[in-house]
Amino acid sequence: MKRYDYVIVGGGLFGGVMAWYARKNGKTCLVVEKRDQLGGNLYCEEIEGIPVHRYGAHIFHTSNKTVWDFVNSLAEFNRYTNCPVANYKGQMYNMPFNMNTFSRLWGVCTPEEARQKIEEQRAGIAGEPRNLEEQAISLVGRDIYEKLIKGYTEKQWGRDCKDLPSFIIRRLPVRYTYDNNYFNDRYQGIPVGGYNGLIGKLFEGCDVRCGTDYLADKETYDAMGERIIYTGTIDAYFGYCFGKLEYRSLRFEDDLYDTDNYQGVAVVNHTAREVPYTRTIEHKHFDCTRDYKETPRTVVTREYPVTWEEGMEPYYPVNDEKNQALYRQYAALAEKEERVLFGGRLAEYKYYDMDKVIESAMKAAGQEFGR
Ligand code: FAD
Ligand code: UDP
Repeated sequence: MKRYDYVIVGGGLFGGVMAWYARKNGKTCLVVEKRDQLGGNLYCEEIEGIPVHRYGAHIFHTSNKTVWDFVNSLAEFNRYTNCPVANYKGQMYNMPFNMNTFSRLWGVCTPEEARQKIEEQRAGIAGEPRNLEEQAISLVGRDIYEKLIKGYTEKQWGRDCKDLPSFIIRRLPVRYTYDNNYFNDRYQGIPVGGYNGLIGKLFEGCDVRCGTDYLADKETYDAMGERIIYTGTIDAYFGYCFGKLEYRSLRFEDDLYDTDNYQGVAVVNHTAREVPYTRTIEHKHFDCTRDYKETPRTVVTREYPVTWEEGMEPYYPVNDEKNQALYRQYAALAEKEERVLFGGRLAEYKYYDMDKVIESAMKAAGQEFGR
């Protein structure tokens, strides 16, 4: 049996960045990936000449220049800027919450008028917001909460906004300018042609076994590596010994339309409770430097939130107090596993964006290899 310096469990971004640093330091790596291909949630499937973001829309954004330079050294990025539109019962509102949204909703023209309106609507919310509902109302007022937040959030998370942590809504900017950019970060874009090229570069020089569940044959793989880098769910690693952490899952449904432009933008958020999906993604618009008319048809994916059960993909950790307490129990066990490094969204149980996963992996690589 061949022995490797590292067995990397999971071919996602955390595993990929660790693999890249390991190879740079002359280490041998075996990557074990449950899915049929590498890339984790970044994987793109080409349909009708369009890179389809198979596991949900992925827009790279960061303010960390080291991270931005790193990904740009591996792939060419386009200048895509995410400007989604929210559809509430057939009315279209610009996102994130900004002067375009306020003006469409209330007919206001100036930041001062918008401020006054929000001030009136947040009356009654005093002190530190205790949950997502209070946080949302105190940031943008009741109208926006009712039309653009409540329905979307309750679909996405499967629970009342009063039972969700406030940090989730603070991911979204609130701006008193006419700026529809969904992110505040300094750098933003998507690799030209999708993420697969970047993924290929990260894992270059590694041996790879796809369609292979590490936990189903843990002893064999443990025997194959000096060290293990584990990026799967932390509760599964320990056989759910303290109970199961909660995740939200998603179901993606594709439609191929016989038009070159279905919705006029890459991302539409469907914020009414009655619409069962949260987002429709028209993938060709991510490829913003290419004329959308070049591909005569278009692929649109509907994103349906689902309660996670064992066997489904765990897309989002549910970082409420109950789950955080459970996670801490697992994290304490993880610390005792001297040969294993736990990292990434699932093993750290964190609602990480891609840049934060790279930062976390760079830090771990620094400790592991001195970089
Ligand atoms: P993953 O990509 O989940 O990789 C873990 C890998 O481990 C998976 O491939 C999994 O199959 C494998 N694995 C798990 N268990 C085992 C096992 N037992 N054996 C073998 N393999 C195993 N971030 C952004 O910055 N911008 C965005 O626009 C954005 N959009 C998103 C949209 C959606 C719908 C989702 C769910 C996430 C989004 N993210 C976005 C976050 C981004 O996907 C993550 O930050 C990133 O993919 C996490 O990388 P990771 O390596 O930690 O985890
Ligand atoms: N959200 C909302 N309405 C929207 C978009 C987002 O209420 O139209 C809320 C929702 O609670 C969501 C959170 O903001 O979970 C964070 O949104 P983001 O787009 O960052 O979610 P992600 O891309 O991580 O799914």
